[in-house]
Amino acid sequence: MIKYKLTCKDCKILFDSWFSSSKEFDKLKKKKILNCHNCKSTKIEKTLMAPQLINNFKDGPLKPKNTKSKEIDNKIREYQKFIRNNFNYVGKNFAYEARSIHYENKKSDKGIIGSASNDEIKELREEGIETRVIPWIENKDN
Ligand SMILES: [Zn+2]
Repeated sequence: MIKYKLTCKDCKILFDSWFSSSKEFDKLKKKKILNCHNCKSTKIEKTLMAPQLINNFKDGPLKPKNTKSKEIDNKIREYQKFIRNNFNYVGKNFAYEARSIHYENKKSDKGIIGSASNDEIKELREEGIETRVIPWIENKDN
């Protein structure tokens, strides 16, 4: 529903009226169904809703920024949930587990995820073991 402030061109009064959409206003005006309750004139016009435009402008620059950072946060958390469900968490044993999969052809239907130092990651890469570093947010709720 849209509230328009309308004005009558003949008697100059102002009044509010509700419409389901801006198209409905145009349709009713075209069919001359809209008329002034004071003088019955059909010369009804919309007035500009200046205060509303000012409010939108004032709230504009702040909201999208907050929404965006929260969106990214939610995306990462969703991603973490997916990883927890689809990978075996091995914690600090990551380098050991990665090697045993690589060298012993240890069968695993799930990938592994865990923590490793930069040196360990470097060593694994030199040995040709593919590792990927992903962004991770520590969940403070847990
Ligand atoms: Zn009028």
